[in-house]
Amino acid sequence: MPGYEMVVGLEVHVQLATKTKLFCACPTDGSAAPPNSRICPLCTGQPGTLPVLNRSAVELAFQTALALNCQIAPVSVFARKSYFYPDLPKAYQISQYERPFATDGWLELPAGEAPGKRIRIRRIHLEEDAGKLLHAAGSRELDCSWIDFNRGGVPLVEIVSEADLRSPEETASYLKTLKEIVQYIGASRCDMEKGEMRCDANISLRPAGSTVLGTRAEIKNLNSLRAVKDALAHEFQRQKQILDSGARVAQETRLWDPDRTATAAMRSKEEAEDYRYFPDPDLPPLAAGAAWVNELKAKLPELPAARRARLRKDFGLGATDAEVLTSQRALADYFEAAARGRRPPAAKTAANLIATELLARLNAESLAADCARINPAELGALADLVADGALSSRGAKTAFAAMWEGGGAAAEVVAALGLAQVSDDGQLRAWVAAALAANPQALADLKAGRSQALGALVGAAMKLSRGKANPELLNCIIRESARA
Ligand SMILES: [Zn+2]
Repeated sequence: MPGYEMVVGLEVHVQLATKTKLFCACPTDGSAAPPNSRICPLCTGQPGTLPVLNRSAVELAFQTALALNCQIAPVSVFARKSYFYPDLPKAYQISQYERPFATDGWLELPAGEAPGKRIRIRRIHLEEDAGKLLHAAGSRELDCSWIDFNRGGVPLVEIVSEADLRSPEETASYLKTLKEIVQYIGASRCDMEKGEMRCDANISLRPAGSTVLGTRAEIKNLNSLRAVKDALAHEFQRQKQILDSGARVAQETRLWDPDRTATAAMRSKEEAEDYRYFPDPDLPPLAAGAAWVNELKAKLPELPAARRARLRKDFGLGATDAEVLTSQRALADYFEAAARGRRPPAAKTAANLIATELLARLNAESLAADCARINPAELGALADLVADGALSSRGAKTAFAAMWEGGGAAAEVVAALGLAQVSDDGQLRAWVAAALAANPQALADLKAGRSQALGALVGAAMKLSRGKANPELLNCIIRESARA
């Protein structure tokens, strides 16, 4: 991208995994329920109702902030953000403005794009979600919009980064890392398709080398990693053309349209004063005592980056395997249960079977790792057979498939399918002798130093063994015979 540098900051809304809403006792499972079946007088803005703060929402919000290295404010304040729109029956949203509950955090990008780069987190605040508008276009009778308030009042945290991101790939890496951390601590499922994690990006361009920020556009509706990357790449080109023509970029909110792969102007950007923020008189300031915060911090599980480093150290895994295995907490748990107490070669084989065979089947059946149809101890036993030379890696895949479909212990399945690899020296030498006798020309070639002949001889001996010979040992014996 010659000439201009992209400057991006993200605002990510995450739905907290509480049972009930932020200020009332309505359940939060409304996305799967009939419209307006998860509502009460409070979350539909009836007069005379008073909000009561959900303690577990606050705890999940604090843990999110602690996992992102933020400072928790000893006192934060709920504010009313006023705007008039049908999805918001009170005509204000309860949010936090001047005094959010967390500030000054950071997140480190993992291997891949800009590894080790710290992206600063400016603030995190708690707020309630709005309802959902359903637009029924078509017949005259249905030519209206409907409102479903099930989502209204569901707890969200908004995580605001500094404008530290410099490319679509870096931004996607930030979002993926953020999602992993939030899922690890159980604060949210972060299912982007279900709207449990929503992302807006502020993007501006400036001449490469400049430190002055350009005018930014806010892009809304970025609901997948793909959308984030595509929208930023597109918006870069749009702003570049404007700047190249000598015109100015307008400060506005734009909507990403994944079908047209383009952004379109939505509205000119509101200023904060348009929202007439003021402290909510119905809610006391939120006090975060040091003891409570420390207790929540102590309850945090090992985070993905630390776990990645530990798995590499403890089990000798490569960077890629460690990355894949720690991408979900349940998958990392599965690996540790499979590999614990086994020798490094078996642990590596287990890592490989999990990252390829197991993950492919979990994805195909939309299962979490803790619902895998092979228990981790049996997968570990299978890896042991490979590490001992009793099973080839191809045989391990066949056994894995059979265990996934029909269950059973690794050793029994391998025996029942006749997959055991033969490493017995006498038996291997008999196959080699027969193969050499049947292929005198190949043997002569090998003796003459033409090493291509080795493959043909190993193949011939393997065929005689009906695929059961240990190929590495066959290789050794044939080379030894050629030297004799
Ligand atoms: Zn309610």
